[in-house]
Amino acid sequence: MGYLTKILFASVCVVFLAVRWTGPRFDPESLKGARVLVTGASKGIGEQMAYHYARFGAQIVITARKEKALQKVAEKCLSLGAQKALYIAADMGSESDPDKVVDFAVEKLGGLDYLILNHIGSTPFGMWDGDVKHTGTLMKVNFLSYIQMAWRALPSLEQSEGAVVVVSSMAGKMPSPFVAPYTSTKFALNGFFGSLHHELALKKSNVSISICTLGFIDTESAVKKVGGVTKMTPYPATEAALNIIITGATRQRDLFYPWFTQAVVLIKDWFPSLSDYYIQNSFEYSP
Ligand code: NAP
Repeated sequence: MGYLTKILFASVCVVFLAVRWTGPRFDPESLKGARVLVTGASKGIGEQMAYHYARFGAQIVITARKEKALQKVAEKCLSLGAQKALYIAADMGSESDPDKVVDFAVEKLGGLDYLILNHIGSTPFGMWDGDVKHTGTLMKVNFLSYIQMAWRALPSLEQSEGAVVVVSSMAGKMPSPFVAPYTSTKFALNGFFGSLHHELALKKSNVSISICTLGFIDTESAVKKVGGVTKMTPYPATEAALNIIITGATRQRDLFYPWFTQAVVLIKDWFPSLSDYYIQNSFEYSP
């Protein structure tokens, strides 16, 4: 790294830390009794979010496809202090399930304060092989179901001055190799919800939108898929989950976790060649 690059990187970090420290304060009490819907909560970051909300005394609905896994998570949520912990099995690749899940949550909880959109469909890790159909299916699960659920939940969120929290990825800000379909879905999310954020502001809506950009997190599925080929160290899912919750509760526009991902994204725009070098050298790959 050149001298000038180091100075620039340090300046970005200082500005970032200053913004972080002057950000809104999180009051854990604000989540007591909060009505929350978390998608993709049978495992990984979604499961960890469910446990944090439970410890804060929230009322939770969780969803994913595997009913047995959801049941176990819901039972643990109750033991951790959730006021309510309900689950509904649903496939976000279906036309009707996204609406069905929102309706279930609104009915069972008597409204909704937080819609946490977190699920992702499975996708191979490898060079793009021309499978357009798979990309379409992934778009349905990772993107279209998000916007469908957000639209369905908006009237309830408007009543409660609630929040939509979208779990996105560095892959939605910086294209990465081996995950082209996944990357496209995350770019789509950032674009759509970035636009919706402006529209809600123009309409003077009281619903906040938070977009969470995550780096490499130590969930079982991510480590299994990427662990062997990346030189990056994964960050803890439980900490990522807590940061996402705080971002939603404090109605912040963005989260970058771990913190340096924001600097990495800025460097990508300012120094694209440096960024390309960094990305292409983060993977163990030989043709
Ligand atoms: P994960 O462990 O693979 O969990 C994915 C969740 O989505 C599971 O609960 C899964 O449950 C559910 N799911 C999968 N297909 C579904 C479908 N068709 N319909 C409904 N639910 C479905 O994922 P994660 O690593 O925790 O990632 C969570 C979020 O963080 C994602 O949005 C991801 O993009 C983002 N993120 C993760 C990382 C990372 O390194 N882990 C990095 C950046 C961003 P079922 O199989 O039971 O349906």
